[in-house]
Amino acid sequence: EIEKEEGSISIHTENIFPIIKKWLYSDKDIFLRELVSNAVDAIHKMQNVNLMEGLQIADEYKVDIHLDKEAGTLTVADNGIGMTAEEVRKYINQVAFSSAEDFIEKFKDLEDKNQIIGHFGLGFYSSFMVADHVEIRSLSYQKDAEAVHWQCEGTTTYSLEPTDKKERGTEIVLHLNEDEKEFLDPASVSEILKKFCNFLPVSIHLEGEEINDKNPLWTKSASEVSDEEYKEFYRKLYPMSAEPLFWIHLNIDFPFNLKGIVYFPHLTNEFDVTKSHINLFCNQVFVSDNTPELIPEFLTPLQGCLDAPDLPLNVSRSYLQNDPQVRKIREVISGRVAAKIVDLAKKDREIFEPIWEDIHSFVKYGMMREDKFYEKVKDHVIYRATGDDAYTTLPEYLERAKEKHENKVYYANDEGAQATYLKLFKSQGMEALILDAMIDNHFIQFLESKNTDIKFERVDSDITENLLEADPSQEIVEGADNKTKGQRIEQMFKDSLDIKGLTIRIETLKDDSVPGMILLNEQSRRFKEMTRMM
Ligand code: ADP
Ligand code: MG
Repeated sequence: EIEKEEGSISIHTENIFPIIKKWLYSDKDIFLRELVSNAVDAIHKMQNVNLMEGLQIADEYKVDIHLDKEAGTLTVADNGIGMTAEEVRKYINQVAFSSAEDFIEKFKDLEDKNQIIGHFGLGFYSSFMVADHVEIRSLSYQKDAEAVHWQCEGTTTYSLEPTDKKERGTEIVLHLNEDEKEFLDPASVSEILKKFCNFLPVSIHLEGEEINDKNPLWTKSASEVSDEEYKEFYRKLYPMSAEPLFWIHLNIDFPFNLKGIVYFPHLTNEFDVTKSHINLFCNQVFVSDNTPELIPEFLTPLQGCLDAPDLPLNVSRSYLQNDPQVRKIREVISGRVAAKIVDLAKKDREIFEPIWEDIHSFVKYGMMREDKFYEKVKDHVIYRATGDDAYTTLPEYLERAKEKHENKVYYANDEGAQATYLKLFKSQGMEALILDAMIDNHFIQFLESKNTDIKFERVDSDITENLLEADPSQEIVEGADNKTKGQRIEQMFKDSLDIKGLTIRIETLKDDSVPGMILLNEQSRRFKEMTRMM
């Protein structure tokens, strides 16, 4: 039998409410996530009890959110396990942290205030960010339980009394503050729910309509999901984006829990490759869309959802960066992306080549950053070659070239400026690789350091025997001096340059449509480029 009582909410400092407002104001929307998550938790508890005690409850479990413009209230109702008066005293009145001052001290420098709630079991109290007056009406599932009505008006006092609630479950009623009336607008509330509750595992209704997908694709096993379903899920997440290039479905139970689907997007100029695009969930509750720590840096463009129920989210960002479990998640993702690339490369070059154009810079960067990643994908890196404008791997290229130039890779990094040289190569049946991305200069050096017997030379850095006539032109030029063409050119350069000890070598190109070439030694050019950059 509950008697009407009044008492103090036990916190050791004066009053929690100004603190909640002051420190948690930055993302008020979060109260809705907290209340709905509590409702879902209560339903899960009910489902468990139902199973364990064989209660045979056949209810349709759901959370109902109701907005009452006239009363100025937002209500979150569930048919979960409910609370007895004793439980309200224990779980609501005794706020679950020792000192609000400690709390401020710890977090005064924290930038990302959004994430504080939940870490501290401040969940329910986040409703005081938008409401001064909050009511709980609850009926526990327990036999002969009495319904309770708890109220608090934003001070450290509460009231608890019996009420006549008939249905099992809990109703949280928020009397919204004057300047929080936006939470009475179904469109705004729907948008917030879509963000936080889109994939919750229990039916969430807003004004009677179900708003969520209870079984998001990542909860299924990869073997039962079709390509079309992956694409459809992607379209749901990113309606404005082109089809993703590839995806990986994670379903790991050991040594930690990690589920999710990540997609490599089709990159456009608008796509921001510097910021994180992953949605992090904890048991299908949205947590954050800004956790770059979870993804290896070179895979920052990855989009999609990761559900990591046992991540230590109650710690700061810098801690997360060094957390061993977060590091393992990064390793798993890196490993799975490597495997996917190998898989694609092996399966069908025609599909792989266009994808490669979008991903190669990231792959190359990854190879330079992570040795494990390098080892996995190194044999599948492909290059566009001038031969018949097809793609080739390095071993394939070297194999074809070995008669003419062993262990030497010719490349162009500017097809336009180096067109003449490329034409010359082509006319003599020689191939060069096109390495014209920003990263390629570094990548070439990296490859040379990894494969010390291979040398890269730009097409205009040296001239191979293969491009020359066996015998320099001996053709006598008509005229008074009767010198050969070669001798005349030599004389011309000597006279005009006037450098002592100058050696001039005259060669004749096989392809006589090219009038002449200026060469610059690979190493000197690289040195010059480097000093210029410095
Ligand atoms: P947390 O969810 O992290 O435990 P909260 O402040 O969100 O912290 O909730 C405190 C406690 O209040 C919960 O653990 C639960 O016991 C109880 N509670 C809150 N909301 C409900 C609800 N809708 N139904 C049943 N119990 C609830
Ligand atoms: Mg909670």
